[in-house]
Amino acid sequence: MKAITLHGPGDVRVESVPDPRIVDPTDAVLRITTSAVCGSDLHQYHGRVAGLDPGVVMGHEFMGIVEETGPAVRQLRKGDRVIAPFSISCGFCEWCRMRLPTQCATTGRAVFGGRFGKQYPGGQAEAIRVPFADHMCEKVPAGMTDEQVFFLGDILSTGYVCAENAGIRPGDTVAIFGAGPVGLLALQSAHLFGPSRVFMVDRVDYRLKLAEELGAVPVNVDRGDPAEQLRAQTRGRGPDAVLECVGHEAPFTQAIQSVRAGGTVSSVGVYVESSMGFPARDAFFKDLTLRMGICNARNFISPLMPLIQAGRLQPTRIITHTMPLTDTPRGYAIFDRKEDRAIKVMLKP
Ligand code: NAD
Ligand code: ZN
Repeated sequence: MKAITLHGPGDVRVESVPDPRIVDPTDAVLRITTSAVCGSDLHQYHGRVAGLDPGVVMGHEFMGIVEETGPAVRQLRKGDRVIAPFSISCGFCEWCRMRLPTQCATTGRAVFGGRFGKQYPGGQAEAIRVPFADHMCEKVPAGMTDEQVFFLGDILSTGYVCAENAGIRPGDTVAIFGAGPVGLLALQSAHLFGPSRVFMVDRVDYRLKLAEELGAVPVNVDRGDPAEQLRAQTRGRGPDAVLECVGHEAPFTQAIQSVRAGGTVSSVGVYVESSMGFPARDAFFKDLTLRMGICNARNFISPLMPLIQAGRLQPTRIITHTMPLTDTPRGYAIFDRKEDRAIKVMLKP
């Protein structure tokens, strides 16, 4: 089959790789109907992630149709349309039973197409092997398009958990750093909690424009210190909650500098380096609450589904490009360089 492989910084290729097959009795093989390029793929694309096998099949956002099931799979049948989360979990280890599937001991915290734990080929491909398929796969309700449910496997669940962890209360002011796909879905999610105003901080004008259409007040980091800009618009205090959706030291620091005393910073940006600067004094004297972490997307797929069906979450708004899998190298390039007004690039095998 065709798949997208990574060979070094900026070097993604369309290659022929062996078709996935059932290895363990709990596996399913899916024929992929939609996949996408994620901001987390960019960390690998930039060469920031050490230890990846050369030629790794990329991608952890995908959905598809069950093609084959192992003998121990009970809940799925050939032909079922399903979505799966980006991280691979068994559903029965101690961590999975604590509802922390991203910490799964059985897979060693594996992510499709990623570096941790056991290596599993990713979803920027024509087909994929999904381990622990009964636990991993959620059937898609009839009448919902791929694009409507797709982001539950990763970035909608991540945006939602970022807003939920921020403890937003009705009337609060909120600032979000990063108007990429994750930040824009965090914006939609933040609105579920009833804030009075949500500021969106980025430097890319066309992304700030969409944020504005989705109800945010844009703040351009290149027009001055974002913490000062945010204080100037919140009676000198700073926002009650700050959501960090970038994954670099500068916005993480700026998020802590921006939040009001006693406020909450919620961070979902992926920090691939093992350490970075932390503004300890600012954080300490502010009495702030900090929450961060990888998203246990498996837990959010079914709870968030009805919010999409009811139109309260509209994840399709962030899609700017849909291209054949064979165009994926161009998809990476425009998403990375913010060309052609790219926000979310969808791939069709
Ligand atoms: P993206 O790269 O498209 O978005 C990042 C945005 O941040 C860009 O629009 C960029 O212009 C903006 N930015 C850069 N520096 C900034 C600054 N100083 N202040 C404000 N904005 C700044 O990627 P994305 O797909 O939206 O992903 C965002 C982050 O979320 C990535 O780090 C990704 O790895 C992470 N992520 C985490 C999880 C999780 O489980 N925690 C899941 C998915 C993605
Ligand atoms: Zn992702």
